[in-house]
Amino acid sequence: MRTPLIAGNWKMNGSASLVEDFGHAFTDTALPASLDVLILPPFPYLDAARRAFDGTPLKLGAQTLNPLHSGARTGEVSGRMLKEFGVEYALVGHSERRQLYRENDEAVHDRLLAALSADITPILCVGETLEERDAGRTMEVVLRQVGHVMARLEPEQRPRVVIAYEPVWAIGTGRTATAEQAQQVMAAIREYQASFDRDLASGMRLLYGGSMNANNAAELLSQPDIDGGLVGGASLKVDDFLAICQSA
Ligand code: PGA
Repeated sequence: MRTPLIAGNWKMNGSASLVEDFGHAFTDTALPASLDVLILPPFPYLDAARRAFDGTPLKLGAQTLNPLHSGARTGEVSGRMLKEFGVEYALVGHSERRQLYRENDEAVHDRLLAALSADITPILCVGETLEERDAGRTMEVVLRQVGHVMARLEPEQRPRVVIAYEPVWAIGTGRTATAEQAQQVMAAIREYQASFDRDLASGMRLLYGGSMNANNAAELLSQPDIDGGLVGGASLKVDDFLAICQSA
């Protein structure tokens, strides 16, 4: 009932030729019938990716967006612009944005609203640091990040959100959360949605992110509350990313 979603977050990596490689690789490859696959390249590659992915199942996503539609915001890109280039999804609140660019829960909320108003599906990223996990605060931190955004949405906006649980200590470290650790937190996120509405909870797509790769994807994706993956490093290698998609 929930269509799995595998999203490749290239971060500030990739090249024009990698865009072409993905376009070719996904042209005639068989993927599970019910699966959404998404690549989130850096902004300069969006237009080339739109052309290269035409005729493939690959959809386009953006790694961030500005809360405004337009204005004096040097260096920024708006949801409305992204939409013009075929972008269907956008990350908000990725831990690198929270940590390196000081985006707090409020900034994340504003970006999520901007995505919705540009008719882009927001992927809200949440996750605890190692310090927070060791202090036994994982659920508190994650549910605060989720709640800060979800509680303030209108009921009709909530089903349009995808949530990615990405423990910060697992991102880019090669240290994946165990399937049980991920399942436990993601079940709690789903349960929290049930406080708004049971149908919302059962329909919401929840992704795991943090060192997902071709070897561990199948086990993670077999968990009842894991509906897909947000893949960083392994999304830069065509074969690895394809293998992850095939295990969904
Ligand atoms: P990783 O990154 O797969 O390289 O850990 C995931 C992410 O940051 O979205």
